[in-house]
Amino acid sequence: MFGKDFQRKYALTEQGIRNTKKGAFWTVIVNLIVMGGAGILYLVMSGFMGTLTDKTPLPSVVPVIGGVFLFAVLSFLTHLQQYRATYGLVYNEVKATRLSLAERLRRLPLGYFGKRDLADLTETIMGDVNRMEHVWSHVLGYLYGAYISTAIIAACLILYDWRLTIACLWGVPVAFGLLFGSRKIAARSAEQTKKAAVRVSDGIQEALENVREIRATNQEERYLQGLNRKIDAHEKTTIQGELGTGIFVNAASVIMRLGVATTILTGANLILSDKIDFMLLFLFLLVITRIYAPFDQSLALIAEMLVSQVSADRMMEIYDTPVAEGTETFAPKGHDIVFNHVGFAYDEKEVLHDVSFTAREGEVTALVGPSGSGKSTCARLAARLWDITKGSILVGGVDISTVDPEVLLRDYSMVFQDVVLFDDTVMENIRLGKRGATDEEVRAAAKAANCEEFVKRLPQGYDTPIGENGAKLSGGERQRISIARALLKDAPIVLLDEATASLDVENETKVQGALSRLLAGKTVLVIAHRMRTVEAADKIVVLADGQVAEEGTPTQLMERKGLFHHMVELQRQSAAWQLG
Ligand code: ADP
Repeated sequence: MFGKDFQRKYALTEQGIRNTKKGAFWTVIVNLIVMGGAGILYLVMSGFMGTLTDKTPLPSVVPVIGGVFLFAVLSFLTHLQQYRATYGLVYNEVKATRLSLAERLRRLPLGYFGKRDLADLTETIMGDVNRMEHVWSHVLGYLYGAYISTAIIAACLILYDWRLTIACLWGVPVAFGLLFGSRKIAARSAEQTKKAAVRVSDGIQEALENVREIRATNQEERYLQGLNRKIDAHEKTTIQGELGTGIFVNAASVIMRLGVATTILTGANLILSDKIDFMLLFLFLLVITRIYAPFDQSLALIAEMLVSQVSADRMMEIYDTPVAEGTETFAPKGHDIVFNHVGFAYDEKEVLHDVSFTAREGEVTALVGPSGSGKSTCARLAARLWDITKGSILVGGVDISTVDPEVLLRDYSMVFQDVVLFDDTVMENIRLGKRGATDEEVRAAAKAANCEEFVKRLPQGYDTPIGENGAKLSGGERQRISIARALLKDAPIVLLDEATASLDVENETKVQGALSRLLAGKTVLVIAHRMRTVEAADKIVVLADGQVAEEGTPTQLMERKGLFHHMVELQRQSAAWQLG
């Protein structure tokens, strides 16, 4: 019952499975003890009935009170155990699951994050785990415990009278059959509700991120209307979903209770035809008031269990995605990067075809080409942010697909345009480049990256918090922080998305100086946008439509008068063009 399939179905950890078993065990004990209470009542009633009909003496009071007392104590203790095993242990399970999901995400190839956006993943770690928590704590132990205890009680009742047992319990399988039959409908509406919820959070996130653009273009009204529509749609799908499952859950509850009527009818018939005596019917009536109770508890939440499949599936999808694996050692001979007939597709469509080139250590290799030609893709692949589909990429002779990405990335510095900064101080943001770097080292790197000048102006210098994703810094300042990080790391390979492209002239010179310090002696792969960088490069790889169109030194390529020459000419013309 509690095997691997069960574990997958409810996305439980090993500990979670053990806890569920414990919860189910104590639920069985609790249910049986409660039935024991009905047993005591039956015995007392039998005693009284005997006195009334056969004039036997009244049962003595002491054992009755003793029995009731024992029942109360046992009942209290077992309920306590049940509570601990179901609610109490689940909080650890929630924590363990969130941590293991986050750990798993950390090791997934970056490509995965293109498929599921941040709002979606956050919803899984927070929302889906929350929903599962309800199932783990309120449903699983109770429900499975109730199955087992009901089976035991049914087996005992059959010993008394099989006809009454059926009359009493037929509703249970029918009710659950109905509920499980409705599972598809419930799951579908849960999926729709989830999608609507993700659309709402996406909408809010988007609005917050673009608040400046929205204001500047007077689009608030339109944006809010769009958001309103999304919220309305979410509300509608939620109500529809709850209504749908509500109908089934209530129908199941009613059907189960029909058992009381059928038991009375059957019992009355059997008494009339002298097949049983009244006390047996009385026993069944006592039992029946208790037998549905454990189901009631889980029935209220069973809708959640039925739709929890969607949440569990979304969690299992993260566990099932293969992580980018590889060896823990990386000992390349030098740091030349070699692309060997590389083919790559983000989804189905191949964006790089048969790309081969070499970026040598100590040289600057510039990737040039029209927008969308595959420059950024090449840079990402060089650091194994994605795995390629054809060919191979070697660094110092080692195939990078065999190296654990975390180990591999120790040898890379990346300075990309979209610098990611954390809501922490300037000091800590730079220190990210090298774990355990001293304050002195951080300051030296900051100085070399020309950060000093703006850091001095900050109210608390290096200890100034810079806001979420560096909201309090200008574009140039953010880039200089990212260069300082790279300088601190001092990795042998530098990937550079021409970080200075969007800067004004003053900032540009400052960043330029920092960059040349960073690049000296390294293997540098730069996504070049402007001619100045390109002309200074040792080697140029021109990409067009995901293929290498030309390759060589700037002079060689100019002489060839091919695509590169054409691009240079175009840029010269646009540079000569002036306002007015
Ligand atoms: P460049 O850097 O030269 O502008 P890119 O490497 O960014 O070109 O893009 C190459 C091709 O890959 C383009 O057709 C682009 O649409 C596609 N592409 C880039 N990034 C992704 C992504 N994350 N998912 C799917 N397609 C992408």
